[in-house]
Amino acid sequence: MIRCYIGLGANLDQPVQQLERALQALAELPQCSLQRCSAFYGSKPMGPQDQPDYVNAVAELHTTLAAEALLDELQRIEQQHGRQRKAERWGPRTLDLDLLLYGMQQIATERLTVPHYGLKQREFVLYPLHEIAAELQLPDGSSLHDLIQQIPRNGLHQLS
Ligand code: ATP
Ligand code: MG
Ligand code: MG
Repeated sequence: MIRCYIGLGANLDQPVQQLERALQALAELPQCSLQRCSAFYGSKPMGPQDQPDYVNAVAELHTTLAAEALLDELQRIEQQHGRQRKAERWGPRTLDLDLLLYGMQQIATERLTVPHYGLKQREFVLYPLHEIAAELQLPDGSSLHDLIQQIPRNGLHQLS
């Protein structure tokens, strides 16, 4: 069993509902057990600013799936939520599911970089992750607590 963390994000078509339905889909994945999820957070978009604010959360999932098999499942859920990959980087989307951490493993394949390359810079990942795993250390030995001190909230706020 591997402990994973999944970053969820959405900013189109009722993002809160997108995340709620995504959590339900995660809970139903084979060989997986959804452990917990952070609160939902409102956040500013990365990249293009002419798009709605995001709703983000981080979930803890235990799995016996291989990392790429888990990525397949995450991408299937994105597709089912009407995700359309466009040329524009960081454009608006109905649902984004990123594999942030897969145990303490470091993975670098064509399809998969784990830990997720943006994990240490993104407030909308670090703060929700810290909420559910305050004592977590990353595979490179850095602590979430220290990382958060360096990354401002940039408007990130917990939704009621
Ligand atoms: P970002 O990766 O900067 O958050 P994004 O989430 O919008 O941007 P996507 O279009 O969702 O990017 O994914 C692009 C590709 O990233 C996917 O096809 C996938 O193969 C690859 N990828 C590499 N590492 C990961 C990871 N840890 N989690 C999810 N996808 C990953
Ligand atoms: Mg992403
Ligand atoms: Mg993604």
